[in-house]
Amino acid sequence: MNTELGSYDAIVVGSGVNGLACAALLAQAGRHVCVLERSDWLGGAIKTAEITQPGFHHDVFSAWHPLWVGGPAHARLGDGLARHGLEYLNTEHPTATLYPDGEAAFLLRTADANAAELDRLQQGDGGAWRTMLDAFFPNADLAFGVLGTELWSRHGAALALRAYRRLGRQGAAQFGAGLLISARDWLTETFASERAHGLLAPWVLHTGLGPDAAASGYMAAVIAVAVQEGGMPVPRGGGARLADALVSFIREQGGTCETEAEVTHVITRDGRAAGVELRNGDVLRAPIVVCNVTPTQLYGRLLGNVPPGLAEQARRFRYGRSEMQIHFALSEPPAWEGDERLAQTAIVHLTPGLDGVSRAVNEAERGLLPAEATVVVGQPLTMDPSRAPAGRGLLWIQLQELPWHVKGDAAGELDAGDGTWTESLRERYADRIQARLARHVPNLERAVLGRTVLSPADLEAANVNLVHGDPYGGSLALDQNFLWRPLHGAPGHRTFVEGVWHVGASTHPGPGLGAGSGTIVADAILEPPAPKRLATKLASLARR
Ligand SMILES: Cc1cc2nc3c(=O)[nH]c(=O)nc-3n(C[C@H](O)[C@H](O)[C@H](O)COP(=O)(O)OP(=O)(O)OC[C@H]3O[C@@H](n4cnc5c(N)ncnc54)[C@H](O)[C@@H]3O)c2cc1C
Repeated sequence: MNTELGSYDAIVVGSGVNGLACAALLAQAGRHVCVLERSDWLGGAIKTAEITQPGFHHDVFSAWHPLWVGGPAHARLGDGLARHGLEYLNTEHPTATLYPDGEAAFLLRTADANAAELDRLQQGDGGAWRTMLDAFFPNADLAFGVLGTELWSRHGAALALRAYRRLGRQGAAQFGAGLLISARDWLTETFASERAHGLLAPWVLHTGLGPDAAASGYMAAVIAVAVQEGGMPVPRGGGARLADALVSFIREQGGTCETEAEVTHVITRDGRAAGVELRNGDVLRAPIVVCNVTPTQLYGRLLGNVPPGLAEQARRFRYGRSEMQIHFALSEPPAWEGDERLAQTAIVHLTPGLDGVSRAVNEAERGLLPAEATVVVGQPLTMDPSRAPAGRGLLWIQLQELPWHVKGDAAGELDAGDGTWTESLRERYADRIQARLARHVPNLERAVLGRTVLSPADLEAANVNLVHGDPYGGSLALDQNFLWRPLHGAPGHRTFVEGVWHVGASTHPGPGLGAGSGTIVADAILEPPAPKRLATKLASLARR
């Protein structure tokens, strides 16, 4: 027999950053909320744990919080979360690219520093950087607005109207075209130096794209400006401090957050949300259910009576490239060869450059292990020494160009076996990456105290939203991005069931810790109904 466990104003299914931020904003506004999480931790792709050696606190999945700190949820919750122990640390050396010949290029924290760095690489590129910033800043509200607005709503229409009024017809068309340009086209048109191209090209991988994909140029420009202005903040003590603070804030406002509570079904009555049923048969009631899940799960499992066309679209939703994480505990800090700033840099990309990233993406998309992957080397100790015992080293390594089904090895070295991510394939591929890194960090091999590798299969097993080990909740190809995310038949965050909302990386504005979709949905839930909005507007006009 089902047990009725209580009723709430809103239930959130899944405790990813979007689910938690949505719940926290609703709780802040006085709503009685309940977050239900199937795993044994809260935070989804946010987790900090000692997974190599005792005393080494690794961010198992996500680690870098510029999107959260620069995002709308932080602006409204930041003070409250600080009361719950969340503190951000930052750096003057957010990122660099290290090339095979040992030369490195750096993205720094001021326009002057970046112009000087780019001029160092090639005279004239510093001026190109300033010209780019001069063009970007006057319309930054539009560029960031695309990523912070429910596009299919009166807010989206208002944003388009603002662009049209400010820029005129031609200017608005030009702005729109700028949203669609590839990183290759934008970088090669803007900067002369291949080093400059290689500095920014790897960043499009962090948006789920490749440098030849539509819209990757816009994402590269947005990230370049965001990193200059915002740096590479991380929470003191580990990324999980963000999830901990959100949970503690929600509980302080009277809300509930439960682990090991898997929702199997959204209950509806008369076409409206009425609650959820858990795997053990327990039932919780609420007129609003926010689902922090993939479209595959939402329309294939949680909701019943899905219109056939929509069910088919959800079934065809495409997941993006797979990824791998490698975590190192080191007996001493990595001793980088070459530019001494590398030792202080939060994220170092190893790649031959724009063409190197493009080649590795292409190989992964053709089912191959890339011959020369883009290696993302994260160094959280540069900001937060508390993550490891004094005098030790810790590295967070991400590889974003991998296939789910491995057809072969572009380097012709590794046997792909039956194409699945076996333990042996995972460790041999990690060995190759470790050897690549050791060419630039000569003390690496002897300093390794512990190494833990998560293959795409391990990522999928850890979090049901990371389908095929895709860290970004589904391909961000243009037909699944912006106006079309997650599905062209159900774009945005409303669903065909009144009161059921969809948030998370699979929905606009996509992946990352910005909590964009959670914030958009909290605002939509809290927005007064249209007649009340009209009455408020009329009253304010009458007062003038
Ligand atoms: C390895 C990795 C590294 C990354 N690095 C960064 C980074 O450094 N910076 C950055 O900004 N972004 C990073 N990202 C991307 C970012 O972490 C994700 O886009 C973001 O965390 C996704 O949040 P989400 O709200 O979609 O939910 P998720 O984090 O996917 O969490 C959803 C939660 O819902 C739960 N759930 C699903 N179905 C149910 C159900 N039926 N019942 C109950 N619970 C359910 C899941 O168990 C999960 O805990 C990274 C991602 C990965 C995987």
